[in-house]
Amino acid sequence: MICTRFHAVISFLLILCVCLFSGASFATTQKIPTQVIGSDTVKLESFRMGYFVDKTEAMTFADVQPQSFIPSANGLSLGTTSKVTWVKIELENANTSPIKVYLHHPYAYHNSKVELYEVVDGQLTRSRLLDMDDKTTLQWMYRGSAVFDIELQAAQHKTLFVKSQAFSHQWFKLNLYDENQSKRALLGLYTDIALLVGMILALIIYNFLLFFSSRLREHFFYACYLVSGGFWIALSYGLLADLFDVYGSITLKWHLSLVSMPIFILLFMINIFETKKKYPVEHWALLSILTLLTGEFIYGLFDIVTALKYSSTLAALMMLVTLCVTLSMLVRKHPIALFFLLGHGLFIGFSGLAVLFYKGEIAFNYVNSHGVGIGIVLEALVLALIIAYRIRSLESLKANQADLQLLASTDPLTQLFNRRHFSLAANQLLEQAVQAQQPVSIAIIDIDHFKIINDTYGHELGDKSIKQVVDVIRSQCRHEDLLARYGGEEFVIMMPDTFAQEGFSLSERIRQAIEAMTLKTDREQSVNVTISVGIAEVDARAPDLQDTINRADKALYQAKNNGRNQSQLFAE
Ligand code: GH3
Ligand code: MG
Ligand code: MG
Repeated sequence: MICTRFHAVISFLLILCVCLFSGASFATTQKIPTQVIGSDTVKLESFRMGYFVDKTEAMTFADVQPQSFIPSANGLSLGTTSKVTWVKIELENANTSPIKVYLHHPYAYHNSKVELYEVVDGQLTRSRLLDMDDKTTLQWMYRGSAVFDIELQAAQHKTLFVKSQAFSHQWFKLNLYDENQSKRALLGLYTDIALLVGMILALIIYNFLLFFSSRLREHFFYACYLVSGGFWIALSYGLLADLFDVYGSITLKWHLSLVSMPIFILLFMINIFETKKKYPVEHWALLSILTLLTGEFIYGLFDIVTALKYSSTLAALMMLVTLCVTLSMLVRKHPIALFFLLGHGLFIGFSGLAVLFYKGEIAFNYVNSHGVGIGIVLEALVLALIIAYRIRSLESLKANQADLQLLASTDPLTQLFNRRHFSLAANQLLEQAVQAQQPVSIAIIDIDHFKIINDTYGHELGDKSIKQVVDVIRSQCRHEDLLARYGGEEFVIMMPDTFAQEGFSLSERIRQAIEAMTLKTDREQSVNVTISVGIAEVDARAPDLQDTINRADKALYQAKNNGRNQSQLFAE
């Protein structure tokens, strides 16, 4: 059994090797097909060509011309080890009149040099050198694209050799057009990138606004992440070259935005998951990769080419770490982990394709070559949900806090402020009154013989009568008066802008209203309740809350002594 399986594996591997080797030799010996142009309209966006990598980076055209070229599609991604790559295109004009075609190199902006050689019957007929750092050679540069015009006589066969010299990663595409199609292609070139960048720009503004209104650092880091990402997309997909005509080595350093981008998403993660406080292992993992990236960023300030060489590897490592941390958050049931996994998963998926593409591992196509941009935009859209969730949970937290505060400052039976809250609020009121030089009076109310009510009719009716008394007091007070339950059946009213005599009048109104009130017991008996009130005015020469309360208390004592059911003004 094991033996058969072993045989099967060996034969599979052998077949694979044979296929790979025969494929390789097949590839090198295969001829590059000729592109035959039979009409006026030329729109070749997908055709066969051949490529040759000059590992020495020093070969001349004469050295390269006799080399064998590997057949390929017209888009190539070859990683960092193929900095100098030559391409061979066979062209033939099947028309009876001469034609002009235009060779487009739309990603020329991220090369240091592009060269074009035209060969007829083995003889070099024309050559052009485009050095991105030499202004005098830029006549074939149309914004970010290199555009070369090529003339083909009737029935002429021409071989084109295109040399692309990259700064770090080698990837490009070549297209062939007639004049009309060439113009059209140039016009529509960066609209998709402008759309991506526009969306990111809107999200940047949204996150900065959120940061300025909430002061939460996560919004700041996320906005910075989007700034880095949006900038890198504009730079690396040619929008900056298209808009500002900048390319060559001056733009090279700006590729550091590719490194600052993961730095900011890591800082964002540290903040939203609060890893420092809650998840030390994850925090350590995020910090380690953050340190590596910061190191790369600093190194890149001095040697950007070397830094970029390792950028895709570091990006892959960073994605691995962030994915593991997110999964761990999901296992720990962190409320936003699922959203983050979805958003960041999109980023990792598409950027992963881009990493493989830049390393030359997978084919040149739109999604692979624009993976980072697509990933960032999709991620940003999903992560906007996280931000909305955070805002919502912060708001409910604030509301809960407000509820708790209210709960802590009110008395459950009467819903009046309690004594603790009264002290705080009364002192504030007093301060304002002193500043405004206004009189303030305080009244203390105590229900008469309340023990008897409790003892005769029970605690329940006692509670009911307290509530009813409070309703009457409340109905007589002004909006600006501060009313609180001061003790069991004792209440306090602080009356701003009120002289003692006015306070006395209010107290009397309350007392009379309570006297007129009757309470029904469950045995249909009527119970009458009365109150006694002591009133004192704040001493304007030495304003003090406790002192005023003490004096009002003394007046209340006097009211009780004088036979209850009355108001008493404090008198020395
Ligand atoms: P006085 O006229 O001198 O004030 O006589 P009093 O019986 O009202 O005496 P005091 O004010 O000292 O008694 C307060 C009583 O109120 C004692 C306590 O059992 C009762 N009491 C305090 N809080 C509550 C409450 O929330 N509900 C009920 N039912 N009774 C309370
Ligand atoms: Mg009492
Ligand atoms: Mg009492």
